[in-house]
Amino acid sequence: MDMINRFPFELRALPYAQSALEPFISAHTMSFHYAKHHQAYVTKANELIKGSPYEKETMLEILKKSKEQDQAIFNNTAQIFNHDFFWKSMKPSGGGVPQGDLGKKFFDSFASYEKFKEEFASAGIGQFGSGWVWLVSDGEKLRILKTGNADNPLTYGLKPLLTLDIWEHAYYLDYQNRRADFIKVFLDHLLNWDFAASNL
Ligand code: MN
Repeated sequence: MDMINRFPFELRALPYAQSALEPFISAHTMSFHYAKHHQAYVTKANELIKGSPYEKETMLEILKKSKEQDQAIFNNTAQIFNHDFFWKSMKPSGGGVPQGDLGKKFFDSFASYEKFKEEFASAGIGQFGSGWVWLVSDGEKLRILKTGNADNPLTYGLKPLLTLDIWEHAYYLDYQNRRADFIKVFLDHLLNWDFAASNL
């Protein structure tokens, strides 16, 4: 899996221009979400880790070791991974149905594409407060997982394939309180199945 592996962490370049996902996600939203929120997690994680025993660890080890005992380090470090993963989970003119090996696994796991979308949307709508919706592989099947706040599948031994950020900062400027509309747009127009296939 492609992760920033070592401290000090950096704000990775977006895989497209800030305006590339318009009209579904505005450049205005991206300018805050990427350049302010994502940047803040990078800055904070580096501040917290500097001079600590975590300095020498890989990102995955930091996540595993900090989860129970250093919540602030876990939260900020996980949010770096989550955002990098989220940007790549989208592309201009995305959406459609997964093909190839991924498609085979997908349709072994979900009764239909419509069922997948329903389940993904209801996980996102049902997440109380901030969090993430993931398509993950448990080795056998694909499934949908929702996590709260900064939590992600990495410490559960699950392999993430795609994710959607459902923190209000991800959609409020464009959709206000209409999280369901944002989830629908993500599923219909932005999903990057090539990225999901590369993670399988
Ligand atoms: Mn976010």
